[in-house]
Amino acid sequence: KRITIAIDGFSSCGKSTMAKDLAQEIGYIYIDSGAMYRAVTLYSIENGLFKGDVINTEELKRRINDIHITFRIDPETGRPNTYLNDVNVENKIRTMEVSSKVSPISALDFVRKAMVAQQQAMGKEKGIVMDGRDIGTTVFPDAELKIFVTASPEIRAQRRFAELEAKGQEVNFNEILENVKQRDYIDQNREVSPLRKADDALLLDNTNLTIPQQKEWLSMQFNK
Ligand code: C5P
Repeated sequence: KRITIAIDGFSSCGKSTMAKDLAQEIGYIYIDSGAMYRAVTLYSIENGLFKGDVINTEELKRRINDIHITFRIDPETGRPNTYLNDVNVENKIRTMEVSSKVSPISALDFVRKAMVAQQQAMGKEKGIVMDGRDIGTTVFPDAELKIFVTASPEIRAQRRFAELEAKGQEVNFNEILENVKQRDYIDQNREVSPLRKADDALLLDNTNLTIPQQKEWLSMQFNK
């Protein structure tokens, strides 16, 4: 029987790698809900809706239904890529600029409503793994398997640093650590759907776990 799997947790704790690998292994569809908030942020930057760090909320609200986000499998990697109004934005949504502006965007009530509706529509068919911040609490409160992932801010910043550096981006460790901590704070303290563990979610702290160890733990939960 196919189920819905919700993976939530702090930023840069390896949720998406874990969710992608699991989905591939068990033949489920993977949906990265964070990519959707990132795509809305990129849209806002590209359409001049930011003045510095200040967002033109009214204009974004008028346009929110013109923002269509879809995922398509890249035939070369077998991994899903994010499309914003039919344009592949997979790389553009992973920059520091987007990372530093995404939390305030995802704190807007009308943005969340629009994204949650799109996510619920994508999850109508069972057999999906979705990762994010509010999947087990808000998007799929009835998900059969819920996991809440965490790790220390320092280890998360280290992982993100290595990832961005490998992509050839100019990166500064302290800037990344600050960004991780700042996003934790905003995600946990916003009014709408603050980040928290669902009561029935399993807790996974992967600070001291290798990827294979984590994989093994996850397979065990799925096969229970
Ligand atoms: O997972 P990722 O770090 O790519 O998500 C980017 C940002 O999107 C998070 O920092 C968070 O502010 C927001 N987000 C959210 N709800 C989700 C997924 C992501 O608010 N379900």
